[in-house]
Amino acid sequence: MPDTNSIYDCVIIGGGPAGLTCAIFLGRYRLRVLLCDNGKPRNYASRAIHGFIGQHNIPPAELRRRGREEAEAAGVEICDCTVERIERSGDQFCLTTTSGSLRARRVVLAYGVRDLVPGVPNITDFYPGSVYHCPDCDGYEVTGLRVGVIGHATRAAGMALKLLQWTNELTIFVHGEERHFTKEETSKLLAEGIAVKDEKIIALTGEGDRVKHAVLETGERVPVDALFFSIGTVRSCTLAEELGCRVLDPQPCIEVDQYKETSVEGVYAIGDLAPGSQLAVTSAADGAIAAIAINKSLLPPSRRV
Ligand SMILES: Cc1cc2nc3c(=O)[nH]c(=O)nc-3n(C[C@H](O)[C@H](O)[C@H](O)COP(=O)(O)OP(=O)(O)OC[C@H]3O[C@@H](n4cnc5c(N)ncnc54)[C@H](O)[C@@H]3O)c2cc1C
Repeated sequence: MPDTNSIYDCVIIGGGPAGLTCAIFLGRYRLRVLLCDNGKPRNYASRAIHGFIGQHNIPPAELRRRGREEAEAAGVEICDCTVERIERSGDQFCLTTTSGSLRARRVVLAYGVRDLVPGVPNITDFYPGSVYHCPDCDGYEVTGLRVGVIGHATRAAGMALKLLQWTNELTIFVHGEERHFTKEETSKLLAEGIAVKDEKIIALTGEGDRVKHAVLETGERVPVDALFFSIGTVRSCTLAEELGCRVLDPQPCIEVDQYKETSVEGVYAIGDLAPGSQLAVTSAADGAIAAIAINKSLLPPSRRV
């Protein structure tokens, strides 16, 4: 349970790679820190995190478990709760959580985003076993495989062209939408031999979490070993907007400066919520950058030069 009587130096909302790294740094500055997390990370179903130095292939839940242990060892309090409301009150913030109300001098928004999954029947049976959304994270995993990209516009064309680094067997599934590729994109797709199927996908077949075919409304069964999609993300909750932080719609990001401070003084946004690459490793880096700035901002003037 959070301490409702005294004031935390900082409350962090979200216990993913971003929030946990921020917590570890702030704890090691010997500040009074509370991390609130409601246990719904973006990569909940992923088998492994790729490309995190020293932790390559680590299951997401294991990374979080270690991060929590390290944060607690640094003196951070962790509360499994949802933050429902934040209000500024003078130079402090009042937070309402499902475990009670509390006060803090600084607030870190690290609550991440959610992926929008395309409306293809039974796609979630194969997500994320063989359905992916990030070539930077999982492109290597589909080397030499037959890969489909679901989408009808520039994002899908860009993704298919990027995937050529790992495979030549690529099909774009427009899935019954109107094609919105530019002339240049169309000619690049043609030149690279990337097939485009306009028909709706009516079913995916496969075994376990491995997809095998995309079945089109014409009855055609297109063999695929993996599918990628990129239709967008949404912020996990609306705390930033309620606080008055400037957001970068239609992107899911919150505007921040180089120290990850938002347009509201004393409120920081890190990880997938901040502009830039959406990766576990860059989220962790954001956490460290914000922590250094937060610690500095809390120092009395007599200790700053
Ligand atoms: C399928 C998949 C595979 C991926 N693979 C890779 C990979 O291989 N390598 C890589 O680097 N990246 C990968 N990523 C991206 C990576 O997972 C994210 O970039 C990273 O998790 C973002 O970290 P975060 O801390 O910003 O947010 P998250 O990890 O999403 O954590 C946010 C936390 O905030 C909590 N929360 C939300 N709202 C509230 C609230 N109101 N109160 C309290 N808690 C709240 C959530 O429960 C969650 O625990 C993958 C993502 C997905 C979806």
